[in-house]
Amino acid sequence: MTAHPLFDISGRTALVTGSSRGIGLALARGLAEADCTVVLNGRDKDRLAEAAGELPGDRVHTAAFDVTDGPSVASGVAEVEERVGPLDILVNNAGMQLRAPLLEFADADWHRILDTNLTSAFLVGREAARRMTERGHGKIINICSLQSEVVRPGIAPYAATKGALKMLTKGMCADWGPHGVQVNGLGPGYIETELTRPLVEDEEFSSWVRRRTPAGRWGRTRDLVGGVLFLASPAADFVSGQVLYVDGGMTSVL
Ligand code: NDP
Repeated sequence: MTAHPLFDISGRTALVTGSSRGIGLALARGLAEADCTVVLNGRDKDRLAEAAGELPGDRVHTAAFDVTDGPSVASGVAEVEERVGPLDILVNNAGMQLRAPLLEFADADWHRILDTNLTSAFLVGREAARRMTERGHGKIINICSLQSEVVRPGIAPYAATKGALKMLTKGMCADWGPHGVQVNGLGPGYIETELTRPLVEDEEFSSWVRRRTPAGRWGRTRDLVGGVLFLASPAADFVSGQVLYVDGGMTSVL
């Protein structure tokens, strides 16, 4: 049996920011498996080359640039379109976590987490959308978080960035929707990656996640692929401004 044509995204070109490892790399792999041309991004060229080698197919490219730096983003996106082709899909995934009580949170860290998790989506989204709106089509997926909805002690700045990213998603949908660009969020629950390694290794916290999640386990990066493929596909042409939580049910229960 073949997949429904509404889910066919073969031949599209996708840029996934922060895809040298973790969730971004898994999403890039999923897009490559769906027969997309994929551009991996991160700051470390060697790590990107290694990651590209792990992906299937011969239409995998890399573009090393810092998503928090306006001029680097502008030249990075322009160079991708020139070298690889027009972008159909952008996944704003690059992000970071800093855990500390608010009273101990340093000014520099506040700016760093805001730049990495929120400003980056504005900068890369704006550069991609300039071109997508001109062409009259495009899909942008912002990787939000269950912490776009809920927060725990010690991660207020992270939750603030992800809550704001949810509203930025809605604002992008409002501005660019009339020009054929759909913008949605995908909100992962607790997923095992480098970013969450300290939590996975903390047995007490780790078992709390398992108990607290209706699915009874931590998420795997692969769990997020289906949601992104859906939001990138024609099946989601009338879906915009939404956040799809892929969290084993965690945000829905007390
Ligand atoms: P990782 O730390 O494993 O990966 C982060 C990726 O972002 C790396 O490829 C890193 O590459 C890249 N990156 C970081 N800063 C920059 C920058 N300034 N410019 C370009 N690339 C950058 O994180 P995850 O895979 O766990 O998380 C990915 C996204 O998912 C984040 O937005 C995170 O907030 C979100 N998320 C994660 C959850 C989880 O449980 N893991 C839960 C909910 C949301 P390099 O350092 O080489 O530049």
